Amino acid sequence: MTLSSLAPKSDFPLLAAQPELHYLDSAATSQKPRAVLDAMRAFYETSNANPHRGAYALSARATDAYAAARETVARFFGVRDASCLVFTRGTTEALNLVAGAWGRANVGAGDDVVVTGLEHHANFVPWQQLALERGAAFRVCRLTSDARIDLDCLASLLGPTTRVVAFNHVSNAVGTVNPVREIAALVRRLAPRALVVCDGAQSAPHLAVDFPALGVDMYAFSGHKMLGPMGIGGLIGRREILEAMPPWQFGGDMIEVVGDERTTWNALPHKFEAGTPNVADAVGLAAACDYLAALGMDRVRAHELALLRHATEQLAGVEGVRVFGPPPGDRSGVVSFTMGEIHPHDLATILDGAGVCIRAGHHCAQPLMRRLDVAATARASFYVYSDASDVEALVAGLVRARELFGAAV
Ligand code: PMP
Repeated sequence: MTLSSLAPKSDFPLLAAQPELHYLDSAATSQKPRAVLDAMRAFYETSNANPHRGAYALSARATDAYAAARETVARFFGVRDASCLVFTRGTTEALNLVAGAWGRANVGAGDDVVVTGLEHHANFVPWQQLALERGAAFRVCRLTSDARIDLDCLASLLGPTTRVVAFNHVSNAVGTVNPVREIAALVRRLAPRALVVCDGAQSAPHLAVDFPALGVDMYAFSGHKMLGPMGIGGLIGRREILEAMPPWQFGGDMIEVVGDERTTWNALPHKFEAGTPNVADAVGLAAACDYLAALGMDRVRAHELALLRHATEQLAGVEGVRVFGPPPGDRSGVVSFTMGEIHPHDLATILDGAGVCIRAGHHCAQPLMRRLDVAATARASFYVYSDASDVEALVAGLVRARELFGAAV
């Protein structure tokens, strides 16, 4: 394993134009390869029209481009029936769709909604609000001291009244890779009426994901974290559940027949895609899937793990650094840390001065920060274009911060 980047930085126009930059915030959003930008531009330059509407060839081309993008993205996740992939704006919208549509129709007083203390707000607040609205109990599963889901606690929360169990595949804040299959199997055994919802925002970009093999009912993801554009993502669901689920938003495209009194719904996936779809971004996301598939998701994982191990070794030599979460083998390419008493925002500002982009704050995971007993952490995250020079710049920047703050560390 080499610690040069897996994908050439020259494939990424922003990185190629700013060679002095060390972009270590890919868990927030990824940089975009030229192939993605070209695909989107080509759509607008050659095929732009409103799909599903016009009876002319150009509109048919737009319709075909949208359908082909859906096929490609579905295949990337091991899904053969592409109509089980609903395009959304991203993970947040996908999770709100499930909570709003399935949740309102199926959750009521006396039911339990279960999440974990490891969740991003996008997979916490919609369920909390659903429970409040429907008079259901909202239960938050405990974590172990190294920020894994405590499976004994989870088992103790499950039962015949559990209607939803929502958890992430990979934590954005500390990088924990959760045993999705094991969790799904546990839920099936102990809570057979529960909908199993997986937030895949941080697994889709970094791990090989085969939706059918995960054993979950719903999987949500964001294109912009996996080399695709902002504004597109998806919800993958089991067909019979999507079929039975009422629509979420109403308008064009999602209807079959609109009567004065009643309306019937279009087939999947259109039932959940009201209004003019985001075709260009879907085309860009498909190009991102092709790019990642060509790299090979197993190689993506191996590359990030090598960087993570290298970073862990290097950071162990920096005084005062405390890394959160499980050991590297059970984490995605994320290092979440504090350094003595220096506020993570100050660390991020000092690093920015050296061209190193990291995240600092609660990472949209305030419940987790409370459990870790910190207000914030600094977070460096790697991707296919990261290399050893990025790790070295991070470490050099932290050593410099320690010098600047002296005794505070
Ligand atoms: N869940 C997780 C684990 C995430 O990392 C993110 C993005 N930070 C989201 C949900 C929300 O994704 P988006 O903002 O793309 O909708």
